[in-house]
Amino acid sequence: MPTPPALEKVRRGDAPPPRLLDYERARAEFSWEAARAQLEGLPGGGLNIAHEAVDRHARGPARDRVALRFLPRRGPPRDLTYGQLREETDRCADVLRSLGVGRGDRVFTLLGRVPELHVVALGALKRGAVFCGLFSAFGPEPIQARLERGAGKVLVTTPALYAQKVAPLRARLPGLEHVLLVGEPDEVTRCEGALDLWRLLERASPSHELVATAPDDMALLHFTSGTTGLPKGAVHVHEAVVAHHVTAQLALDLREGDVYWCTADPGWVTGVSYGVIAPLTNGVTSIIDEGDFNAERWYRILEEQRVNVWYTAPTAVRMMMKVGEEAARPFDLSALRFVASVGEPLNPEAVRWGVRALGLPIHDNWWQTETGGVMIANFASQPIRPGSMGRPLPGVEAAIVRRTDAGVEEVHAPGEQGELALRPGWPSMFRGYLHDDERYRRCFAGGWYLTGDLASRDEDGYFWFVGRADDVIKTSGHLVGPFEVESALLEHPAVAEAGVIGKPDPIAGEVVKAFVSLRPGHEGTDALRADLLAHARRRLGAAIAPKELEIVAALPRTRSGKIMRRLLKARELGLPEGDTSTLEAGA
Ligand code: AMP
Repeated sequence: MPTPPALEKVRRGDAPPPRLLDYERARAEFSWEAARAQLEGLPGGGLNIAHEAVDRHARGPARDRVALRFLPRRGPPRDLTYGQLREETDRCADVLRSLGVGRGDRVFTLLGRVPELHVVALGALKRGAVFCGLFSAFGPEPIQARLERGAGKVLVTTPALYAQKVAPLRARLPGLEHVLLVGEPDEVTRCEGALDLWRLLERASPSHELVATAPDDMALLHFTSGTTGLPKGAVHVHEAVVAHHVTAQLALDLREGDVYWCTADPGWVTGVSYGVIAPLTNGVTSIIDEGDFNAERWYRILEEQRVNVWYTAPTAVRMMMKVGEEAARPFDLSALRFVASVGEPLNPEAVRWGVRALGLPIHDNWWQTETGGVMIANFASQPIRPGSMGRPLPGVEAAIVRRTDAGVEEVHAPGEQGELALRPGWPSMFRGYLHDDERYRRCFAGGWYLTGDLASRDEDGYFWFVGRADDVIKTSGHLVGPFEVESALLEHPAVAEAGVIGKPDPIAGEVVKAFVSLRPGHEGTDALRADLLAHARRRLGAAIAPKELEIVAALPRTRSGKIMRRLLKARELGLPEGDTSTLEAGA
């Protein structure tokens, strides 16, 4: 594969030198022990994410620095300093204590981008509990499945989300002991069986003795989707903070005192690792924007907040591109020093668009829920290869491998495709899938963690994303498991079988498309199609539900009865059907 030319670096004249200056040298000199030494730790060898993120700064000169600047949908910005965040998170930990929450208990949120999410996440960690953020656009089914599987004891949400999605499930979730609501008192009092978080925080003690967690204690739970079965609960421990902290410096060029904006939703791993934790451990001011995407609003935030480092996603970049680069012209983006994106392939054109519209290229980087932090990146000081995810971070060993009967073998030839693999041992590596040891074990072979992504590596060590090795769908940066969508469709009385694929889309990367066949006695009318789409949306929520649905006579199945999504996709895209020897006759 010929390697496309690298993009010349554009740097602001007054920008400080990048934190990672010399790639080879940084790799040679790096050690996770040295990274760990940047943090304080707890007496006796303990480690707690919230201590490193908040308390460490609140005692020092950063006490009065703004930690979180909240931009509500309406109204003026609200600031929380490191000192105030220390107090609020202590109060939250005390609330949880009074509710009987202790070590290892699971505290969930179903919230948008609001500072209460940070307070609850960090308060739970101070209490020694485990934090799990759910995406507020989930429908009742994904919410129930995750709360059940994750043994959620406390859920923090809003009155509207509670009434619409959680209250109808409560009887089916006996383990969910408390629901705390963030909202105006009159709305909260209307929700029976739930408590008022603001009121509880006001009455709680402003100081809580941090529960001394060990580095290997479970801290975070992130649900992610696989091809089959229920969503997988990836378990992360307090030691992950070492990777969150140092990878933000290396891959995002983050430095103390920066203004930083991560646009990711806290219901996904990026919104926690790089939306909540890493900016705080690095002592920066984090922007939290409650509003939905709007190009003009986003440019205005970059300008008015004097954002230095911006971490966003390809879908968002493509939406900005659609509006046109002229939209950026009226805005002063001179504070911006570094822009990065993650979650899906970043089109080479988007990298160059960044130079024209923002005055800076966009740096693609790669990681996933299981890795907990950035593993492969285009760095501030290094040439970008548009379309490439970049090179492994210092401390990270990546390879292209092929599965064999004996295990795996490394693929060394430049440009050759295989599965992207990482050598285990970085601090934010997931430590298990909840209740699924077997599935966890299957992720490792021959001394490698197998990522499930197909990629290649060029002669200079840059990695190029090819696709997923499985049927998982990436839509607007979110992983969607086809099984979860098919299961919801099958609950409709008219549906006999369902198969779900990702269909390429110029903005969202992929959109979810469903194929269904009907039970006898039902007719494939437009009205039924609309009803099926509405049914899926009600159950699953807008983030997961199919955008397109086609009614077909029958779905292609293997002889063993499995729906062949690969074939559905090939037919949809007009691609060669590949090996169909296992196809059931007549399908
Ligand atoms: P998630 O676990 O939801 O964060 O999704 C992780 C998956 O997103 C990866 O396994 C990839 O398939 C995809 N992904 C993440 N970053 C990139 C990137 N920079 N380029 C291409 N795909 C990416």
